Amino acid sequence: MCGIIGVFGHKEAAKIAYFGLYALQHRGQESAGIVTSDGKNVAEHRALGLVADVFDEHTLNQLPGHIAVGHVRYSTTGSTTIKNAQPFFVTHGKNTFALAHNGNLVNAHLLRLELERQGSLFQTTMDSEVIVHLLAKALRKGLVEAIRETMDLIEGAYSIVLLAQDKLIAFRDPYGFRPLALGMLNGGYIVASETCAFDLVQAQYLRDVRPGEILVIDENGLTSYEGAKADRLAHCIFEFIYFARPDSYIYGENVYAFRKRLGIELANECRLEADFVMPFPDSGNYAAIGYAQAAGLPFEMGIIRNHYVGRTFIQPSQSMRDFSVRVKLNPVKEILRGRKVAVVDDSLVRGTTSRTRVRAIKEAGAHEISMLISCPPIKYPCFYGIDFPTRGELIAAKHSVEEIRRYLELDLLHYLSLEGLLRAGGGDGKRFCLACFTGHYPVPIQASLSKDIFEN
Ligand code: AMP
Repeated sequence: MCGIIGVFGHKEAAKIAYFGLYALQHRGQESAGIVTSDGKNVAEHRALGLVADVFDEHTLNQLPGHIAVGHVRYSTTGSTTIKNAQPFFVTHGKNTFALAHNGNLVNAHLLRLELERQGSLFQTTMDSEVIVHLLAKALRKGLVEAIRETMDLIEGAYSIVLLAQDKLIAFRDPYGFRPLALGMLNGGYIVASETCAFDLVQAQYLRDVRPGEILVIDENGLTSYEGAKADRLAHCIFEFIYFARPDSYIYGENVYAFRKRLGIELANECRLEADFVMPFPDSGNYAAIGYAQAAGLPFEMGIIRNHYVGRTFIQPSQSMRDFSVRVKLNPVKEILRGRKVAVVDDSLVRGTTSRTRVRAIKEAGAHEISMLISCPPIKYPCFYGIDFPTRGELIAAKHSVEEIRRYLELDLLHYLSLEGLLRAGGGDGKRFCLACFTGHYPVPIQASLSKDIFEN
């Protein structure tokens, strides 16, 4: 979980990157950074915190140049220190590189051991540093060839923007796990995790950076190279279910419309007699709209969100969790008292947040509560960049739907089936990574890496 942006050919590239990162803030709230170049000189600013806190007019004015890369970080690997804030910035001989990465490699630890054995010194605990070391090692063959060789060695999920002095380069793993879109901006180019970043700066969405593609953007325009190949696609379906912004297009498709279809599929599978449908906001909003429309039931907001609180699962300690759920969402007693409600949410992960929310609407007077989840039970951890806990903490890994219903103190619980999910996705299940539901990992996970996560 991270957001990345690259800008080429705009006289205020840093400002464009800043606005883009602002739109991508939901993808990471831990740190933010921008590196710019005028083709010769490179400048950087990175800090822990939200985009609006990390940058101001003054810091942006210190970032001159027509090329920029930026990053917002949500840590899935590596700890929370300023050293791990991206873009990752290095000088190698006469070349300066700044790299921003979204996704998780599954063999970074092995590559790191090998590089260390060969004498490499690492400054951070990030996967991205491994990528930079591999690039540097192959650089004498030229940049595109070095990227190609690096892509042959790294395994897993990566959507990357790279500033290499006078060039902006974007490349993406051949499975296309994480999104990466290409747009046009006043004759220049922009690359971002999601198209919501384009809308804010009025850039035009052209297409996605293709899985396995290397895109080089420089004074000569845009050149596409084939980087790596895979025998299938594996777009993360959880980006559609939860992570991406509903106004974005990812993998060429609008997220809002996808989520609405999940709600319609829920209605096809489970018709409830309820007084109204309500979401757990905001994650459940769009599936709830789809469900209500398809089931012909009224839609209400039975619980109100305080928008000035971050996503609760970002909080580090378990003891703060209940508190942060309550500051974030408050039930509307007037609407709930004595009513039969159908609550829609996107997913259940640990179950703890939902339990507190269900209790809160019961205490507010709801008389009967059914819950519809717009994806199947999440049973397996993600190794490609979504921050799911270990298998032991995933409620559906060890408990049946009936056990979960009882734990959540619900009258009814229904999860969307895998078939329903795929129908919402247009029937072509082969283009998605569904590992969190099925345990079939498109890129094999190293035994050493999976042991802890599976067993705890
Ligand atoms: P819980 O009841 O604790 O499983 O929390 C469920 C809520 O957490 C849902 O509204 C999800 O949208 C949200 N959520 C989504 N992704 C994650 C994640 N990776 N870790 C924790 N919670 C998540």
